[in-house]
Amino acid sequence: MIDIKKQLQNINNSINQAEIKAQRSSGSVQLLAVSKTWPAATLRLAAQAGQNCFGENYLQEALVKIDELSELELEWHFIGPIQSNKTRDIAAHFDWVQSIDRLKIAQRLNDQRNEQQAVLNVCIQVNIDNENSKSGVNAENVISLAQQISQLSRLKLRGIMVIPTKTDHLSQQQSAFLRAHHLYSELQQQFPGIDTLSMGMTHDMQIAISAGSTMVRVGTGLFGQRLTPNV
Ligand SMILES: *Cc1c(COP(=O)(O)O)cnc(C)c1O
Repeated sequence: MIDIKKQLQNINNSINQAEIKAQRSSGSVQLLAVSKTWPAATLRLAAQAGQNCFGENYLQEALVKIDELSELELEWHFIGPIQSNKTRDIAAHFDWVQSIDRLKIAQRLNDQRNEQQAVLNVCIQVNIDNENSKSGVNAENVISLAQQISQLSRLKLRGIMVIPTKTDHLSQQQSAFLRAHHLYSELQQQFPGIDTLSMGMTHDMQIAISAGSTMVRVGTGLFGQRLTPNV
């Protein structure tokens, strides 16, 4: 079995190296541990090694883990596609939602977020390469959606999340990340409290950090290859 503590150190070291290389301050990039398919016991090992933010894609699976690990005060990020009938549970159990791709979902999360809870942190998922098959808002529609979300009092708009087209071409990866960074800067100028550019995964986190990412979402690099393929 993979040594989670050691892997976590490795990932944090790579993040730190990438920050230095990009002349960015230490700690400017946060690590989100993407724990889909892994059981609560595995997450607990990561938590014991100091990781406290976890990203989950599937609601039912996540709810089991959130419940099992409730004594640990972890920060939970929903990063998967959202159907409207799932918003009530997401609003009740998560701290962040990074995959907002339409106003209706934002409105439902806002209406369903309990007054006793802190506001729900959200990011707009941007389809930065305008792929037909991909979820997310096209770049040209982000500002208007951000305007609408900023009116919702139970949500706090924190930034954007991007998953660029898979490619091995460095220049293509850089181009997508730089376009995302440009959009993020534009949002920062127009809205208060924008501080999150969620981009970069196991295989492209260094490039994402050099382009200005503030949060990398790492799954396989931390926990190993997922046993269920294509998730
Ligand atoms: C699965 C997933 C990740 C993590 O991908 P790895 O390649 O395993 O690091 C990051 N972001 C999202 C949205 C994901 O679904």
